[in-house]
Amino acid sequence: MTRSARVVLLGTAGGSPYWANSSRAGNAAAVVVGDRYYLVDAGREVVRQLMAAGLGDHTSDTGGPLDALRAVFLTHLHSDHVVDLNNVLSVGLHNGLPRADRPLPVFGPGSRRRLPPLFGDRPAPPVTAPANPTPGTAEMVDLMVRTFAADYNDRAFDGGSPTPGELFRGVDVPIPARYIADPDGDPHPRMRPVQFHEDDRVRVRATLVQHAPMFPALAYRFDTDAGSVVFSGDTGPSDNLAELARGADVLVHEVVDTGWVDQLLPHPRTAGQEALFRHLVTAHTAVEQVASVARAAEVGTLVLSPLIPGNWPRERWQRGRGDFTGQFLVGEDLMVVDVAAKRR
Ligand SMILES: [Zn+2]
Repeated sequence: MTRSARVVLLGTAGGSPYWANSSRAGNAAAVVVGDRYYLVDAGREVVRQLMAAGLGDHTSDTGGPLDALRAVFLTHLHSDHVVDLNNVLSVGLHNGLPRADRPLPVFGPGSRRRLPPLFGDRPAPPVTAPANPTPGTAEMVDLMVRTFAADYNDRAFDGGSPTPGELFRGVDVPIPARYIADPDGDPHPRMRPVQFHEDDRVRVRATLVQHAPMFPALAYRFDTDAGSVVFSGDTGPSDNLAELARGADVLVHEVVDTGWVDQLLPHPRTAGQEALFRHLVTAHTAVEQVASVARAAEVGTLVLSPLIPGNWPRERWQRGRGDFTGQFLVGEDLMVVDVAAKRR
């Protein structure tokens, strides 16, 4: 019997701020296959949103909702995509993680291994954590555990709780070394998708996308018996993403309204401000561009999420439909998208 598959958008606000007059939670989505689910990104309020979505055991105080979680996939390490990962891991001790498949893998990009280039005409700032200024996913999870060691040790020694090593582990997605050797040379080298995870419900592939200077930045594709779904992560238009998304049933794609960036940097601009404008918009996909991405990849359903900024009215995003003829949805928190519903 084919298990049903659906996507639940948990949070649809892009960017790191708490946006004024917006109730959208931070970047996160669940791929639900039968009675288990997979988490893509862990932005703010992710655990509360899992609860609200009714995933896992959401009726008891301590049984879930993380009991049904099978794996976490981080697209990149900007805070708006990972800031509540620690909640999943440490609060998770009390919200079902001990009942989940474990150790729970937390997949994500490895280290950039080099500071980003200094942008603009100004002196270099002091480096944060100079001994290891760009930790990747495995290191980040380890550092989170160290930060909260007092809590983990108290729970384990006093309360007999499972230890972090039993509960979860961070894993760097194995992108071939030749594509990530020079993060400043070509931050978006053309590559074939890499399959790195498979279980009885999903096969997951990843590719590098264009979010420079944040690097590596990944998009993910989940293939299930019911259908397939692709998450763009944060990216400008990307041939790698187009290849990964080819023929997918659902594409969940980020968008930025460049009018918002215009507002931040009003005309007339200095050369430096113009460079900053280009810099900001090339790391994201303008709402006017996303339809052509979906059309070229021949996906069945296009879902816009996350939205940058996170507080502009829904109508502003409708023009993302463009000439895309499949199902088009502007993402809303807790929206459910059937992965197989719109198969052509
Ligand atoms: Zn980002």
